[in-house]
Amino acid sequence: QKQIVSDQIQVRWSSTETSLKNDISATDVRGYKGHNMLAPFTAGWHTTDLEPLVIQKSEGSYVYDVNGKKYLDALAGLWCTSLGGNEPRLVAAATKQLNELPFYHSFWNRSTKPSLDLAKELLDLFTANKMAKAFFTNSGSEANDTQVKLVWYYNNALGRPDKKKFIARTKSYHGSTLISASLSGLPALHQQFDLPAPFVLHTDCPHYWRFHQPGETEEEFSTRLANNLENLILKEGPETIAAFIAEPVMGAGGVIPPPATYFEKVQAVLKKYDILVIADEVICGFGRLGTMFGCDKYNIKPDLVSVAKALSSGYMPIGAVLVSPEVSDVIYSQSNKLGTFSHGFTYSGHPVSCAVALETLKIYKERNIVEQVNRISPKFQEGLKVFSDSPIIGEIRGTGLLHGTEFTDNKSPNDPFPPEWGIGAYFGAQCEKHGVLVRVAGDNIMMSPPYIFSLEEIDELIIKYGKALKDTENRVE
Ligand code: PLP
Repeated sequence: QKQIVSDQIQVRWSSTETSLKNDISATDVRGYKGHNMLAPFTAGWHTTDLEPLVIQKSEGSYVYDVNGKKYLDALAGLWCTSLGGNEPRLVAAATKQLNELPFYHSFWNRSTKPSLDLAKELLDLFTANKMAKAFFTNSGSEANDTQVKLVWYYNNALGRPDKKKFIARTKSYHGSTLISASLSGLPALHQQFDLPAPFVLHTDCPHYWRFHQPGETEEEFSTRLANNLENLILKEGPETIAAFIAEPVMGAGGVIPPPATYFEKVQAVLKKYDILVIADEVICGFGRLGTMFGCDKYNIKPDLVSVAKALSSGYMPIGAVLVSPEVSDVIYSQSNKLGTFSHGFTYSGHPVSCAVALETLKIYKERNIVEQVNRISPKFQEGLKVFSDSPIIGEIRGTGLLHGTEFTDNKSPNDPFPPEWGIGAYFGAQCEKHGVLVRVAGDNIMMSPPYIFSLEEIDELIIKYGKALKDTENRVE
């Protein structure tokens, strides 16, 4: 049985993430201790006891803090800055639009050219299933909230008022507004918020390593999960289930690619009971997996799609919902009857966000971004795979430019380290010390580097990851 090396550092906790009180940052003078911002996904003690890491500048694959320290941004901000930190064409597109028309809305059949052009570009780009319309939001959470409203509106229009429940999956992340947090399958998003909302059901997380039974193949595991999904639908009554929402690869839940044949089997069940398929492409969309969309990679034929993040390379807030012709036709005819489709945000289709997104998509095409991801991702995945042998790593997994590391004892999903050891938090802190920023959630580490990473930057990441891992291993004996 392993033990923790006597307390070199003090580990402190929050319910949603672990972090370290001392070590890397407590000695830095950043000038914001006890600041006034109610920070997202941050424990209260962080903002009183600890200096926040204040990022001031970005350049290519790097960001710099207010002390001038340089970090390789291995999470691309929050899985979003696909073109890195200072793409001048995006700045120019924003500036041009700000000079010409900084704002106009899209309510009541008024609109702006960038929003109309972007809708067309998005529909041309998404080819896994035919899409007819795009609805603009400011974020991925708003996109997923919009999904629920569209689906309810659709079923009301079809005279199916009982067909309203949503099925999502445990460990999924779909956002943090009331509805998108309800769809998410992470307990921290529900606890203390009186969620999930009662119309949301959660089915199995498709994590083969963690949940397969002894001797079960990936295909058999997928069959079992599809059967469980069907049983849930039958138990609830198919006439009450409206839609199923899934990320092609689960992101914030720990980077979990689907097991073989999973989406094929799940989609067959959904089709049988006339249940809409919603693909949450907020992380996977626009090349991250080495295909333009996650749906292309896993042969998902969605009725509705959510996108955000890399749509604008994170430079401006924007999300969108893509709607199939079957669904949008029903919504159109119903809105004609009612006189309006009463949903939208002041900033739906914001011209500056749309102008930046249009330029982002143009760059993806010109630079053949899918090819670029496929050029660098093998080195990224294979270089990190080497660390699978570490005695404190349970599983290393990923695809394209998405990567997850899970720390467990004895290589087993059933032997987690005691949470108070803070293994993941310690590793994250060591990464920060060595100049790399990663995502830490408990003993899961996630990375999603910008697509512009050079092969040398991948080497740098692997070396620094290795150092942080050594430091972490040395703490456990
Ligand atoms: N859906 C997925 C798959 C996400 O990863 C996220 C954010 O990480 C969201 C939705 C929510 O997006 P936002 O934070 O822009 O609201």
